[in-house]
Amino acid sequence: MSCSLCPRNCMIDRRSQRGFCGCNDTMRIARIGLHRYEEPCLCGNGGSGAVFFSGCNLRCVFCQNKVLQTGQLGQDFTPDALADALLELERIGAENINLVTPTPHVNGICKALDIAKGRGLSLPIVYNTNGYLSVDTVDKLSNFVDIWLPDLKYHDQRLADRFSAAPRYFDTALSAIGRMLEHSGQLFVNETGRATRGVLIRHLVLPGCVYDSRDVLSAVAEHFGTDTYLSLMHQFTPQPDAKPPLNRRLTKREYESAVDACLSLGFTRVYIQECDSATFAYTPAFSSEVTVQA
Ligand code: SF4
Repeated sequence: MSCSLCPRNCMIDRRSQRGFCGCNDTMRIARIGLHRYEEPCLCGNGGSGAVFFSGCNLRCVFCQNKVLQTGQLGQDFTPDALADALLELERIGAENINLVTPTPHVNGICKALDIAKGRGLSLPIVYNTNGYLSVDTVDKLSNFVDIWLPDLKYHDQRLADRFSAAPRYFDTALSAIGRMLEHSGQLFVNETGRATRGVLIRHLVLPGCVYDSRDVLSAVAEHFGTDTYLSLMHQFTPQPDAKPPLNRRLTKREYESAVDACLSLGFTRVYIQECDSATFAYTPAFSSEVTVQA
C-alpha cells in the first residue's frame, strides 16, 4: 500500500499517513460545477464540468488555488458519489468532465469513471494536470481519458527546484506528455469548435522567466512538432507572500515576447490570453460542502 502514484514516490501508507500532496486515502473534492474560464474548445456553450480535487503533488509557490494544496479543504467523496456528480454535470449541460489536479486521486477517479460510464456518462473526459506524473499513471488512465490538458511549467530545473521543489520536472513532464500523445494524438477540435480527443499543452508565462518560456516552447517544437496545440497563459497572479520575481504581474511586453517566440517557432494552434486576464474569475470559490454548481 506504499504510494508511488506520482514521481514524488513518497512510499507511505495513505490509510494512515498523508504524502507530499497532502492526501490520505479519501478522495477529497472542493468544488464541482460548470466552469467557463477554460480554453474555448473546452468551454463550448455549456461550460466545462470541472471537478477540483483537494491536495496537489506539485504545490507551486505561486499557485492561485493555494487553499487546496494541503488537501484539507473539501468534502470526501466515494467513487459512487463522484460518479453521480459527474452524471449530474452531464445533465445540466457540461461539455466535458474536467478533472483538475487529479493525480493523487487516480485510483478513486478510475473507479468513479468506470461506474459513471456504466450508468451512461458519455462526455469526453479531460485530465487537467500539472504535468508531474509518470508514464505508468498515464497508461493506467488511458482507457478513461479523452483529452489530456498537461502543464509544461519549466524547462530550467533551477525554477522547478525553487518554485515547486520538483526533481526532474521537465524530463518527467516531457515523458508523460509524449505518452499522452502516443495514446491520443494531437488535439482534435470538431466542426462545432469543441475538443473531443488529444493533447493541449498549457504553459503559464512567469514574470522574470520569459527565457524559460522560450526554452519550453522550443522543446515542444523539437519533441512534438509545431502542430501541437498550445495554450500560452497570461493569468499569473502574485500571491501576498511572494518574493521576486513572482511578486509582480507579468508585463505586456513579457507576454508578447513569449507569443512572438511561439509564432516564430511556427506554432499555429495557439490559445493566447488577453493581457487583463489575471482576474478573480479564474479562481472559483471552494468549500467544505460540495454540491454540483450550475
Ligand atoms: S500521490 Fe501524493 S502520496 Fe503518492 S507519491 Fe505522489 S505526492 Fe506522494
